[in-house]
Amino acid sequence: MEPIIRVENLTFEYRKVSPEGPATSFRAVDGVTFEVPSGEFVAVLGMNGSGKSTLAKHLNGLLLPTEGDVWIEGMNTREDDHIWNIRSTVGMVFQNPDNQIVSSVVEDDVAFGPENLGVDPMEIRRRVDEALQAVGMYEQRLKAPHMLSGGQKQRIAIAGAIAMRPKCIVFDEPTAMLDPKGRHQVMDIIHRLHEAGITVILITHFMEEAMQADRLIVMKDGRITDDMPPRDFFADRERIQRARLEMPAIIALREELIRQGLPVDASVQTEEELIEAICQLQ
Ligand code: ADP
Ligand code: MG
Repeated sequence: MEPIIRVENLTFEYRKVSPEGPATSFRAVDGVTFEVPSGEFVAVLGMNGSGKSTLAKHLNGLLLPTEGDVWIEGMNTREDDHIWNIRSTVGMVFQNPDNQIVSSVVEDDVAFGPENLGVDPMEIRRRVDEALQAVGMYEQRLKAPHMLSGGQKQRIAIAGAIAMRPKCIVFDEPTAMLDPKGRHQVMDIIHRLHEAGITVILITHFMEEAMQADRLIVMKDGRITDDMPPRDFFADRERIQRARLEMPAIIALREELIRQGLPVDASVQTEEELIEAICQLQ
């Protein structure tokens, strides 16, 4: 079966034209190849500037490769004829909800995407209601988005993506600007979308969020350095350090207990597992 996302040897260079000197270019993504089968939940980690957002913007044709190709359900993002089809197949949710909200009424904002696709008004009404219910914001449908909390606004942005009926949603650090409650609610929605069959790409800098995915892709300097189940990655202290990622608290505690000579298994990586391992020590 054709994977929903196929990225082959993707390289992207930002070009800077300066009036004084010659134009310079910066390679933000460097020869990246991977596939995502339909229905997978992939987390992407990597330090700031490692190329995650640049990669994300290639997945629905917001950026086009300098070299290499991106196919969405077999459609090459370079082909103009496919761009609307690609944009309705892969939705995007970004970090800052304020930059994604375009209307002064919540439900108009959610309707914006399907209206642009030329969807029938009756169908739009249905989709908007359904999308608002899916993110728990139906009651707020007539409110002004600027009256809502950051977490609520982000849920509206997600409803806007859902209303396009995408098969895949790319979330680029969707919880970075939210408080813990807002983060939790957004992660809950992401899990429910995944359970409903939507392919999820979640870029995050929260290790705990990355641990919840089926698969983890780690980027460094525009390249993929690791591509494996998160459990395998977080069992390996050296890999975490090599990616220059911060050690999740539970992993740091596990490593310290091991260093102190306690027989704690290196596979321990959740609070429950650590408590169980400690209880078994006496
Ligand atoms: P990440 O999302 O992992 O933080 P980005 O994809 O945003 O990384 O950026 C990768 C690299 O590309 C960084 O070094 C960044 O400074 C550079 N970059 C990002 N956007 C631009 C841009 N519009 N123009 C020039 N350089 C950029
Ligand atoms: Mg980014």
